This record gives sequence, structure tokens and C-alpha cells, in this order.
Amino acid sequence: MSGDVVIVGGGLAALRAAEWLRLRGFAGFITMIGDEATAPYNRPPLSKRLLTGKMRESELGFQTFTRLAVNMRLGQRAVGLDATRQRVHLASGEDIPYSHLVIATGVKPRQLPGAPACDERVVMLRTLDDFHAFNRLLRGARRVAVVGGGFIGCEVAASLRQRSMSVTLIDVAPVLLQRALGRQLGELLTEVHREVGVDLRLGTSVERWSTGVSGVSLELADGSTVRADAVLVAVGTVPAVDWLAECGVDTTDGVLCDETCHVVGLDNAVAAGDVARWPNTRFGSEARRVEHWINAVEHGQAAADSLLDGRTSARPYTPIPRFWSEQHGVRVQSVGMPGIADRLVLVEGQLESRTFVAAGLRGDRIVGALGFNSPRSMLRLADIIDASNPIPATVAGTRMTAPR
Ligand code: FAD
Repeated sequence: MSGDVVIVGGGLAALRAAEWLRLRGFAGFITMIGDEATAPYNRPPLSKRLLTGKMRESELGFQTFTRLAVNMRLGQRAVGLDATRQRVHLASGEDIPYSHLVIATGVKPRQLPGAPACDERVVMLRTLDDFHAFNRLLRGARRVAVVGGGFIGCEVAASLRQRSMSVTLIDVAPVLLQRALGRQLGELLTEVHREVGVDLRLGTSVERWSTGVSGVSLELADGSTVRADAVLVAVGTVPAVDWLAECGVDTTDGVLCDETCHVVGLDNAVAAGDVARWPNTRFGSEARRVEHWINAVEHGQAAADSLLDGRTSARPYTPIPRFWSEQHGVRVQSVGMPGIADRLVLVEGQLESRTFVAAGLRGDRIVGALGFNSPRSMLRLADIIDASNPIPATVAGTRMTAPR
């Protein structure tokens, strides 16, 4: 492949794409455009070890396994794409030409309608700057409210309890993480949060916000009021695709790609990481996004491969998605796609001991697994999913509700 590669996005997928291009011998010019001022860094600690003080900011950087020789354009925002002339428009007014393009702009936090976004006591968490703003607020705070009981909301609540702070967690669902874990496992994790003293307000939502000198008041639909000195809004994410609005690409829930990471309707362009939606043919033909750290690594590499190999020779990207979370000392793991399972079966351990593995079955196939505190067994399940084997004899156990 000859010409210049432009990578838009300055996160993990972007970094691994650049690195893979170099490892495969690409000697051309690579430009990486990222709107954060910082070189790519590790986000998961922002809600966990950095927040609890068990990790330092200087440890967030990534190692690379070759000399990247990348022209890093940090603090630069892409605002448009001219697909015909193959140019990326920057907010500064500059145009960057490319012969090959990698789209890796990730996601941004979803805004919550009605939340006083301009009040500095109400924050969201995606970037290191967000982390600093939140951590500064926490210094003077006694009471913290977290709106949203997804992974980030739950992790932050857990970290703040480790700092002995008073935390109220509000979610519209009756159970934490039900969509990701299913009803029973969600209930189990809800219980863990309750035990360590997180004030849970579930099955309700914020009806009215008011701000004053003494803090932020959240009036809930159940009639109660939560008062807080700091509020974290963590109600999901939306793909960062605004800059692609005019270029004709399908950006409905992310950048639509074919099975080889090539962007549908765009020449010489691939997408990777949280922003990309593609059919992982290992699990069917539906195009989906995967917002997992490990996927950002593997997807960045696969997209680089596809760019080098070209659309007609590239191989389908068919990973086994893997995810972990850490909450109150419980390691929650997911492999494969338990969300597409029609049933979940406990195959190892016991729910009460909080050490177990549950396999997600669809027809006669294991399509995913969820586990608490069972990293080795989860690796074994990943191997079984990889081999696409029929259900092994061990998959006979208590039946549970599958995630949705
Ligand atoms: P990002 O890391 O989002 O990088 C995209 C970059 O592009 C960002 O710097 C963004 O600012 C930039 N950008 C966006 N738009 C533009 C533009 N127009 N112009 C220029 N630059 C732009 N995953 C797990 O598997 N386990 C975990 O425990 C876990 N914990 C997490 C905790 C937190 C607090 C967060 C925020 C995420 C967590 N994740 C976790 C998710 C994981 O970090 C992401 O899946 C991963 O970072 C995705 O990488 P990416 O490169 O696709 O996107």
C-alpha cells in the first residue's frame, strides 16, 4: 500500500492501528488527529484505580512495541470529511489530505435531558479532563449522587465507597446492569452495592433538578429528594460521528462497516473501536458496536490489516468480545455475546458464593458467558466459544434469565 494514512481519533484503537501498520512494514506517512491534548491513554482506571488513588496518572500511558513515527496532531478536532477529495477538515480550518483513512473517534457520554449541564457540580466521565474536573469536585464533597447504574456509574459508586464517601446511585431500572447481566446476576450485583452502603434509588428517575449554594437537589419520580455536592451523570454513550454528518456514510449508531472493517460507501477507509458497527459473522449478520477495551486493541489491528490488504483481499474481523469490570472487589467478566443468548445456565460455582460462571446458549451453541471472580474458567469458556463446539456435557445446570 502506498500513500498517506490519516487516523482520526486519538484513543486506544487509533494507537493500535498505527502500531500495527508499522509492525506490518508500512513505511508511509501516518497522521493521527485527536481532539484531546493528551497522547492515547488507558480509560478504565478513570472509574477504578485512579479514582481510588491506587494508580497514578503517570501510569496511564500505553507501551508500544515498535517505533511509531506518527505525526500526532493532538488537541485538533475533525469537523468534516470530503470523501470525494479525500480530505479531513479540522476545526482550525486546515484540510488534511489522505489516501487511506482510519476512523477511530470512539464515543462520548450521552447527555441527560434536564440535567444542568452548565453547573460545574454536574459532570460526566469519559476523558482525563473529565476525571480531573470530577476529582476536584470530590475534594470538597460530602455527598455524591451518581445518575445511571451502568458499568461506569456502578464502578464509580464502588470506588467512592472505597474512599468512604456517601454515594447515592439512581437508575430507572429496578436492578443494576440488568441489560448486560440479566435479571438474576443484576440482582446479585445490586445486593453487593447495597451491602457496602451505596444508597440505591432504583426503578425511579430524576424529575426535577435544582441548584443552589448548598448543593444540587434531585427530585425523584418516587417523591424522594437527593441532595448532593457533586453529581456524576453516567447514562450511556453515543458514537462520536458528528464530523461525518455530511459525507454520506451511514452513522446510525456508529459507522457502518462491512465484515472486514471497511466503511460501507467510503473508498479506502476503515473504522475501529467503540465507534464502528460491523457484522461479526461469528455471531450472525447483524452489525453491532462493541464498547470494550480489548476490542479497541484487536479492532485497531484488524482495521490496519484490512487497509493494507485492500477491500477484496481483507479477511472478516470475527473476534470473541471480552469485557471486565471491578466493583467492591468483585471481578465481573463477560465473553462472547451473552446478550444474544436465549437462555443462561449456571455451569460452575454458586451464585451465593459470588464465584461462578454462567453460559449463554442460543439453540445448541454457547454464544457467551458471564462470570464473577472466575477468570480462569472464563478463559476456558472463551476457547469453547472460539471452537464453535456444540454444547459440552458440562453445560447442564440451573437455568436463569438471559441478559437483554
Ligand atoms: P476512545 O478511547 O474513546 O478514543 C477516541 C478518541 O477520539 C478520543 O480521544 C476522542 O476524544 C477522540 N475524538 C472523538 N471525536 C473526535 C474528532 N471529531 N476529532 C478528533 N478526535 C476525536 N472497557 C472494558 O473493557 N473494561 C473496563 O473496565 C472499562 N472501563 C472503562 C471506564 C471508563 C471510565 C471509560 C470511559 C471506558 C471504559 N471502558 C472499559 C471502555 C474502553 O475504555 C473503550 O472501549 C476504549 O477506550 C475504546 O477505545 P477507542 O479508541 O475506540 O475510543
